Amino acid sequence: MLGKNMFFIIDGKLSKDYCGLASQPGNTGLSTPGSDNCWYPEFGFISSERKLNTSSSTIAHELIHNLGVGHPCKNPSDLMYGTGCDLDKESGEKVIDEDSSLYVGASKAGANILDLKVWKDGSGKKYIPLSDVCYVGEPCMVSNGTWTNVGGELIIQERIAGKWINLQKFKSKRNAANKIVFNAAITPKEKGVRTYREYIAPTKKFTAYTGRPFTRNVVY
Ligand SMILES: [Zn+2]
Repeated sequence: MLGKNMFFIIDGKLSKDYCGLASQPGNTGLSTPGSDNCWYPEFGFISSERKLNTSSSTIAHELIHNLGVGHPCKNPSDLMYGTGCDLDKESGEKVIDEDSSLYVGASKAGANILDLKVWKDGSGKKYIPLSDVCYVGEPCMVSNGTWTNVGGELIIQERIAGKWINLQKFKSKRNAANKIVFNAAITPKEKGVRTYREYIAPTKKFTAYTGRPFTRNVVY
């Protein structure tokens, strides 16, 4: 199913809490137009107070989550306004990043949807990031864990013809929770299933660390 998004429209009351769900970023989504959160009894099911009713705007909203966009709270009329924002303020006809400051031509809300390879005119250049999948020429996260103590730099190794080859070194950083992270992303040069592992060389204080091998499918 690579290169395709799967979107399920379930005709049933699935939840009192949501009208739709989607992976962000990812390639699956769901809307449940019969559920209470998709419509309001006072406006009727298909008709609504807006030109684009909630059942329809939810489909567009969820598909944009798949492109990596979250819920910016800047504009209560925005298509991506959602949970986490003040939903009582949600109002007016839906707009899609009206002033190009959030996710159309900007990436403040998580991703710039114009960058992605989903447009008919071929203008987008990036694939939708998916876990365990990488793309030739695009940075791919291979180590995003947190550490309490480390002896040195993290080396990402790749198994090539039965040998572990050093690919790239990464310096440690501190995240907001003051944990050590490397956030190591490598940029594959060729397609195929590649096998990697983490390695940290021994120091006087620490023994060597060798992570378990894992694979990434470099699909395009
Ligand atoms: Zn949402």
